[in-house]
Amino acid sequence: MSPLFDLSGRAALVTGGNGGIGLGMALGLAQAGARVMVAGRDTAKNAAAIADIRKHGGTAEAVVCDVTSKAACEAAVAATEKAFGRLDILIANAGSSRRRQPQELSEDDWHFVIDTNLSSTLFSAQAAYPAMKRAGGGKIITIGSMMSIFGTAYAAAYAASKGGVVQLTRSLAVAWAPDNIQVNSVLPGWIDTALTRGARQQVPGLEEKVVARSPIGRWGVPADMAGVAVFLAAPASDFVTGTAIPVDGGFSVQG
Ligand code: NDP
Repeated sequence: MSPLFDLSGRAALVTGGNGGIGLGMALGLAQAGARVMVAGRDTAKNAAAIADIRKHGGTAEAVVCDVTSKAACEAAVAATEKAFGRLDILIANAGSSRRRQPQELSEDDWHFVIDTNLSSTLFSAQAAYPAMKRAGGGKIITIGSMMSIFGTAYAAAYAASKGGVVQLTRSLAVAWAPDNIQVNSVLPGWIDTALTRGARQQVPGLEEKVVARSPIGRWGVPADMAGVAVFLAAPASDFVTGTAIPVDGGFSVQG
């Protein structure tokens, strides 16, 4: 394997790594040699995910974690250091949505979405920072969305949270560059996961609209997210920081 993409000896924490995009990225990191700690709330999903990674020849453990709690994020980092002796890579991927028109968003909806998507990204990055300093540097990958760029009628809280993730990413990148920590965001297009299966049920015609607008002509799958995760976690990206990279089959460049 090229040393540019070799993650042997590295340890990664992937929030929401027990399904969807997080698991797709976790499998990519494990395939490149990283040991992976999967963090999610659901113990059965956690167990299934690490069995999947191990089945593919990877090394994986799991920790129960609700990323809306800073203390839980700190405990997940501690569990990673305990299991693997270090933390080099954080993928702050856990996220959710509540699809409502803005006039229908309750206070609870707003706080749920902002806490799950945006506050969690800060809390997990804050928790990772001292461990990465101990390791001599690190890579933080945050997850934005097409809603970091666009707006839709049913995603005001979600779009606000994902726009915030990109700005948070830029600020962390500037602050922590002297510590040899690179921080970048991935903006996935429409990826077939539990989250978007819910969206397709709620939004008539979404399935076809995404295909029609995507130059590549299909929905993404979690495995499509593995390559960018490896790149942003590996030495290949050591001079890349503060960016937001769309991985969307061309959805965001269609005129
Ligand atoms: P899924 O619903 O398939 O997975 C979400 C993951 O997040 C699960 O592993 C879930 O595990 C975890 N999670 C949710 N809330 C919490 C929490 N409070 N604490 C810890 N873990 C949590 O969604 P996707 O894979 O689609 O989404 C992953 C990320 O990608 C999200 O940030 C999403 O916004 C983003 N995204 C998705 C796109 C898509 O098209 N699918 C497009 C753009 C961005 P558990 O339930 O066990 O806690």
